[in-house]
Amino acid sequence: MDINKTRVPMRELPVEDRIKKFDEVPLGYTEEQAIAEAGRCIQCNNAPCIRDCPVKIDIKTFLKQVAEGKFKEAFLTLKKDNPIPAIAGRVCPQESQCESVCTLGKIGDAANIGKLESFAADWARKNNVREEFDIEEKPQKVAVIGTGPASISCAVDLRKNGYKVTMYEALHKAGGVLQYGIPEFRLPRDVVDDELSYLTDIGVDIRLNRIIGQNVSFEELRSEYDAIFIGTGAGAPLFLGIDGEKLNGVYSANEFLIRVNLMKAYKFPQYDTPIKVKDKVGVIGAGNVAMDAARSALRLGAEVHVLYRRTKNEAPARKEELRHAIEEGINFVELVAPKRILGKDGWVKGIELIKMKLGEPDSSGRPRPVPIDVSEFTMDLDTVVVALGTKPNRLFLSRTPELKTTKKGVITVDDALATNIEGVFAGGDAISGGSTVIHALGEGRKAAKSIDAYLSDKGKTGSV
Ligand SMILES: Cc1cc2nc3c(=O)[nH]c(=O)nc-3n(C[C@H](O)[C@H](O)[C@H](O)COP(=O)(O)OP(=O)(O)OC[C@H]3O[C@@H](n4cnc5c(N)ncnc54)[C@H](O)[C@@H]3O)c2cc1C
Repeated sequence: MDINKTRVPMRELPVEDRIKKFDEVPLGYTEEQAIAEAGRCIQCNNAPCIRDCPVKIDIKTFLKQVAEGKFKEAFLTLKKDNPIPAIAGRVCPQESQCESVCTLGKIGDAANIGKLESFAADWARKNNVREEFDIEEKPQKVAVIGTGPASISCAVDLRKNGYKVTMYEALHKAGGVLQYGIPEFRLPRDVVDDELSYLTDIGVDIRLNRIIGQNVSFEELRSEYDAIFIGTGAGAPLFLGIDGEKLNGVYSANEFLIRVNLMKAYKFPQYDTPIKVKDKVGVIGAGNVAMDAARSALRLGAEVHVLYRRTKNEAPARKEELRHAIEEGINFVELVAPKRILGKDGWVKGIELIKMKLGEPDSSGRPRPVPIDVSEFTMDLDTVVVALGTKPNRLFLSRTPELKTTKKGVITVDDALATNIEGVFAGGDAISGGSTVIHALGEGRKAAKSIDAYLSDKGKTGSV
């Protein structure tokens, strides 16, 4: 058997075009390219790709179907286990999941599973292919709080199982981070809107502008529904706690990205949310969120510096995002930690940094950054974006004091994702404090199974 060890390359928007606009960077496979790339899969017996996929997509079958040109069947295989394949194909860290264990990867490039996933889902969208199934209606009602990936997969599985599902979303658009966080150059909004429209197609009721704990109480939901799923995410930013963080021109990455993505600040004044990005922007952190903020700032016309306490090799961002950021001209200032943000007349004018070196590995397995004595230096900056991670928003939790949380402020759940309140389940970033789209999807599916078992056991309707 002839094995092609090299991936079929994917076309991308040329750098000079991408840095001026928010258009998607990877341009997708053509049908011929997809068939050739999927045909590289050797259909190995043990299929470790399926084992390591958090939602257990039948990757082996879907690749075979693409290789045979059966794109509709490939899409339906994906959709059985993943309600949002066009999104997941674009943003999942496949390189550390399915692709990292691909048997082909031992002798050459792993199969390009992510890009083939988005290819099949895009093909279905263009050809109006929808998954069809019969729903056997059940009398019980389930409320889902939030509309991010965890809530999406939970709502879809419950609805397919016949439950009446109502989703409550605080914002004016559904999708969670997919809508307000990840920029369009990685995840175009027509893709998000299309995959979300599937929820309403199958009868999920999505209610926007409903903040549970503020304009709708948790008690109201408990009295109206037979079970509840909490997928409220982790939207509250972490800050450094250093001097100068309150200066004008300092943003949390969340605020920065919400302004840019959800409120379309990059189209100001056509849209009425402005964003002040002056000449030199410093982004603190090197995860996906930091790369999204840095690449957005670049597209708004800034000179961008990523300030990171380790080196690029240890950066937690996806490899593709790092490569794109470097190609686009973002400067990485490695081995530095911020000491204080400097200001003038209430506005950022620079940052004081301390140099670091790499030490012994810490609990993450990466070398610990160690400060070097008397190594402070300053850098001129006009804007600082802090991208250090997030934690669950206190608003919902403070209004539900009976819900048990850990010291870190995430919701406590058991193995079935049940909280301490009967009939109330939780998943996604609300229980992890920040993870990935595919893990959130996996937890949403797991919670849907537990809710089904709980309601089947209960066998009757009634409030939670
Ligand atoms: C900028 C950014 C980039 C990322 N990039 C990637 C990536 O490339 N790949 C990847 O796998 N992961 C990425 N992640 C992480 C990933 O997006 C999250 O792990 C995932 O979205 C978590 O899903 P979730 O459903 O738990 O929560 P979320 O997506 O956060 O959704 C929670 C939803 O609940 C709503 N909500 C909160 N409180 C209430 C309330 N009281 N009432 C009603 N609604 C409420 C929120 O408005 C939100 O819409 C990124 C995260 C960010 C912020």
